[in-house]
Amino acid sequence: MEYNQRPGNTAETFPVICVRQLRKEYYLGRTIVPALVSVDLDVYRGEFVAVMGPSGSGKSSFMNILGCLDRPTSGEYYLDGEPVSEMSVSELADVRNEKIGFVFQSFNLLPWMTTLENVELPMIYAGVAAEQRQERALWALAMLGLSSRADHKPMELSGGQQQRVAIARALVTAPSMILADEPTGNLDSHTSIQIMSILQRLNMQGITIVLVTHEPDIATYCKRKVVFRDGRLIHDAINPTPAIAQEDLQQQPAPEERMLIQ
Ligand code: ADP
Ligand code: MG
Repeated sequence: MEYNQRPGNTAETFPVICVRQLRKEYYLGRTIVPALVSVDLDVYRGEFVAVMGPSGSGKSSFMNILGCLDRPTSGEYYLDGEPVSEMSVSELADVRNEKIGFVFQSFNLLPWMTTLENVELPMIYAGVAAEQRQERALWALAMLGLSSRADHKPMELSGGQQQRVAIARALVTAPSMILADEPTGNLDSHTSIQIMSILQRLNMQGITIVLVTHEPDIATYCKRKVVFRDGRLIHDAINPTPAIAQEDLQQQPAPEERMLIQ
């Protein structure tokens, strides 16, 4: 089906993400592993979607395709109206750089680079001039309360601080959306709520977020929940009353930050 022929698709209402009959198979020797069977989903600008489901249900496979890190075996994917599933590997890399910010469970910071250099990295790939790179990286670090850590190496930061650096790195290219695969999976519950508070703030500023989590508590901060099982989307519901992370933080005393170096 042609994206533009879908009923009701005006400029204001077309989704950031539109997938149709998405299928992903992996080949292990002679065995075919069907990771995604037939997935349809629309995500509109400003949504905050929690992706849930048991281990092995296809969540990461789905996120990798949404993030243009991998291509579907078949089916359609339109990102901001562009038919991504037809793009070449190098076109995908450009789209990824321009439109998508990634946040991972394991932070994925480069250990030999400072915080500032890590945040500048996506802009080096995007060809941004050095001066502007630094300016934008410092702006993103300030927004996440990390200005004083610009010269620190990731190892010198707590887990929560490292994840905030990763969020700063995801933001500097002004992406259309943030994709987060279990971003709180390695963090204690207080730090997890802090990260959710930051993501809620960014979402209020208009950034679309899709976040994988297996923790129901974390999903309560999202505005919509979709559930995968055996490579299929089996549940999709709006959360009419998302919890507000900032409020929950105020009710919880902060544990001491576990810092290696102050
Ligand atoms: P989830 O993130 O929900 O745990 P995944 O998308 O990682 O699920 O995996 C879905 C299915 O695809 C699982 O059966 C998994 O073993 C399989 N799978 C994932 N990645 C690969 C791969 N690179 N090669 C082969 N099988 C894979
Ligand atoms: Mg996974």
